[in-house]
Amino acid sequence: MPSAKEELNGQATSPGALAGKSIALKDNIVTKDSPTTAASKVLSGYESPFDATVVKLLRQHGASISSKTNLDEFGMGSHSQSSNTGPVFSPFSRNGTPLSPGGSSGGSAVAVATGQCWAALGTDTGGSVRLPAAYTGVVGFKPSYGLLSRWGVIQYANSLDTVGVLAQSVKDARQVFRSLNVFDAQDPTSLPASVRQRLGPRRREPGRKRLRIGVPVEYNIDELSSTVRAAYVRTLDALQVAGHTLHPISLPSTRRALSAYYVLAPAEASSNLAKYDGIRYGYRTAGPDASPKRNSPLYAQTRGEGFGDEVKRRILLGAYTLSSEAIDNYFIQAQKVRRLVQQDFDRVFAQSNPLLDASLSTRSGDGGVDIIITPTAPTLPPTVDEVKRQSPVESYMNDVFTVPASLAGLPAVSLPAPLSEQERSSMEESDVTSVGMQFIGQFGDDETVLEAAELVE
Ligand code: GLN
Repeated sequence: MPSAKEELNGQATSPGALAGKSIALKDNIVTKDSPTTAASKVLSGYESPFDATVVKLLRQHGASISSKTNLDEFGMGSHSQSSNTGPVFSPFSRNGTPLSPGGSSGGSAVAVATGQCWAALGTDTGGSVRLPAAYTGVVGFKPSYGLLSRWGVIQYANSLDTVGVLAQSVKDARQVFRSLNVFDAQDPTSLPASVRQRLGPRRREPGRKRLRIGVPVEYNIDELSSTVRAAYVRTLDALQVAGHTLHPISLPSTRRALSAYYVLAPAEASSNLAKYDGIRYGYRTAGPDASPKRNSPLYAQTRGEGFGDEVKRRILLGAYTLSSEAIDNYFIQAQKVRRLVQQDFDRVFAQSNPLLDASLSTRSGDGGVDIIITPTAPTLPPTVDEVKRQSPVESYMNDVFTVPASLAGLPAVSLPAPLSEQERSSMEESDVTSVGMQFIGQFGDDETVLEAAELVE
């Protein structure tokens, strides 16, 4: 009989735990038997000589890889509309126009929502598993940073990139998560066994079944749509009726989280994407080689032709915020905000952050909460036509509720909360059936996050 610790560490999942299950992969996770493009022309023709660790683990557990799924180029986007091979459409629509499936793991979410696979892997840097899950009515789980290997996952912003799971139920997502939750020596950010031993819900007072649920006052923003607000209230009410307790909490740095994210993620991206130079991977522009003597345009031309507009925008933004005249005002400030966001969470959770020395704890000492619940996104999904009319900044706004957990590396799941009959009939022109609710836990407390989500599933 495996101990709880072994089970949490994934060692207890039997080799056949995923036998016969078909699992789709976001196409920024490398596979040796099929091309990997990250939805970018710059990677066209690229074939990886190896499988990503998560792919190896899926195969070892008996899963079959059903397909590679479409995404926003390099994971940069919230609607899966900026792919080299064309947009992704949600199965839901309004007035006959398809809705946004969310992004950037929109292809994986749609594959699960439409039953084309049993589960799918995505990646979540600032919300890219949770937002598509919310928009397509499935479960989307982003584990704590460092639990699932990033070896073979094409980087966007490596201090935030996290492999996540999309599935029809929390139970299925947990099964995939546990099969992948092991240390990987090939990923320098993979948490070693010594840290994994300190993680998890085992330190909660024994026998306490009732969850203390945090309701952050800062998430009650004007932009919250009435339908989302009503579903949020219903979810909280149901948990209260079941005996769990609700506690207003404050996460004051949340309002700065989105701007900090959109400084940090492009900064890391500008560095990570420097390697696409026309020499090493995928696409190369036609013409002469890269001899500096001939002042060859190979790099610039390859990159100019190979990257899409959004990726170029982020590379430019990142290069600027890292430049000597801007770094203090942007990159350094954003890192400070990131730390404040993390401290906000540490202050409200009952469990201290297992990554911190106990003496650095910012906990308020008033008991704290086990879990925080928020909507996943402030509104229902826009149509793809509405997305086309959005400015980049309007599109970034969709991530306002998901980026705080990303900046702090916390586990978070999005779960579909069904709309009431009345809500559904009052939106005749739209066939959306649910709203995404987000459950966030303390670092390493992934199992509590999944357990809590299951209570309202
Ligand atoms: N929409 C966010 C971005 O474009 C999040 C993307 C992601 O999590 N990969 O950066």
